[in-house]
Amino acid sequence: MELPELPTNSTLAHLRWVSENELSIDWRDGHASVFLLAYLRKSCPCALCKEDAHGLGLKRGIRLQPRPPLVNEVKAVAIEPVGRYAIQIVWNDGHRTGIYSYDYLRKLCPCKDCKPTADKAKS
Ligand SMILES: [Zn+2]
Ligand SMILES: [Zn+2]
Repeated sequence: MELPELPTNSTLAHLRWVSENELSIDWRDGHASVFLLAYLRKSCPCALCKEDAHGLGLKRGIRLQPRPPLVNEVKAVAIEPVGRYAIQIVWNDGHRTGIYSYDYLRKLCPCKDCKPTADKAKS
């Protein structure tokens, strides 16, 4: 399958595909993050997703948007630069309002250094 072209205009980060459902970001400071697309889809920062995550849509009895598909079905159709500081991801479920700033992506980094495990915190 052909993967969408990645923005190359950021001075903060270098994006590359690891596999068709994993995106890697190499940061300028030497750190590297590998994101599962499903994780990024779930972490969509747009107002609709945030509202839905808080269950407001359900309370009102409306589905704000379709549920994200299963992990290995999550695909990016396009990834567009938004200025130099963010990217917009168009998902294969049609969702496209999420703008991921590099700042936000860095905070999302799922690696052990950025997200210490509960075990580590205990010891
Ligand atoms: Zn969203
Ligand atoms: Zn990290």
